[in-house]
Amino acid sequence: MIIDLRSDTITLPTKDMREAMFGARVGDDVMGEDPSVNELEEKAAQLFGKEAALFVASGTMGNQLAIKVHTVPGSEVVCDRFSHIYLYEGGGIMTNALAGVKLLEGNQGLLDHQQISEAIADDSDIHTSPTRLVSLENTMNKGGGVYYEKEELERIKQVCKERDVALHLDGARLFNALVETGEKPAEYGQIFDTLSICLSKGLGCPVGSLLLGSEKNIRLARRYRKALGGGWRQAGFLAAAGIYALDHQVDRLKEDHQRARAIRDCIMALPEIENIYPVPTNIVIARLDKDVNVNEYLSKLSKKGILAIDFGKGLIRFVTHLNFTDDHLEEFRKRVNSRIL
Ligand SMILES: *Cc1c(COP(=O)(O)O)cnc(C)c1O
Repeated sequence: MIIDLRSDTITLPTKDMREAMFGARVGDDVMGEDPSVNELEEKAAQLFGKEAALFVASGTMGNQLAIKVHTVPGSEVVCDRFSHIYLYEGGGIMTNALAGVKLLEGNQGLLDHQQISEAIADDSDIHTSPTRLVSLENTMNKGGGVYYEKEELERIKQVCKERDVALHLDGARLFNALVETGEKPAEYGQIFDTLSICLSKGLGCPVGSLLLGSEKNIRLARRYRKALGGGWRQAGFLAAAGIYALDHQVDRLKEDHQRARAIRDCIMALPEIENIYPVPTNIVIARLDKDVNVNEYLSKLSKKGILAIDFGKGLIRFVTHLNFTDDHLEEFRKRVNSRIL
């Protein structure tokens, strides 16, 4: 048995999800005629209290379209220095939107309204690149799956509104935060101009993300998606998985969080682990002892059939997900108890 905790992107569709996909009604989505895609987009827009939604191939595509919608060439995006949009999207901000980035240093990747307010540059000074967009990440991957307090998000929204700057959420794992706080998607729809949500992570779909926003912004995003070659045809087979996930696989994210905490408890005592970040959701980031070689350690783990990833600077990351069950957890315990090095 391989215990794969490298990412929550590795989930495989369940039997019921496969059946939903197999039976999907489909049509040509570029012509607006795929009933399953239309249903998914309407359902998501309604859930988040937004006017419209766009089903896209990936979270990266959702973020990149949003960035292009909100910025103009030469303008700037404000985000945390560890943001996915900056670190892991192939430099897309610079190449797709021709925009610059102002990186801030957040608290475990979470920004506050004060530092955002100080970072925003307006149009009045010709020397500076004007800020057109603030982008937040929730939960924050590099921060170990931490999430924002809603009150702070309201304050950030206020700052953005006063300064006439758009506010985007990279909500690849927003549902992980929502199941913890009990807040509703529509509360987040109210705060952000656009949100991107991954269906292909904890929600267990094979492919796909959603971008949510106003009618006007989503229409523009749809055109940019086409220009990127992202207009797809009978995508309803994938959308059917998304509909199924939203209906059946949201609440269970809580189990992933419990199992992530169980992993933390289980590796805490290992002599090679120096410390572990707090584990509010499904991500466990552990710092290895200075004299432990990360690659060697990961390879030892992998020989025991446990897969994790190098998270840079002496850190390793485990992510729990749909395909990591109580049986896997039990097995994880056994293998780790018999030592790693
Ligand atoms: C996974 C992820 C994305 C999107 O990734 P894709 O692989 O493009 O779907 C965006 N933001 C964060 C924080 C992520 O973890």
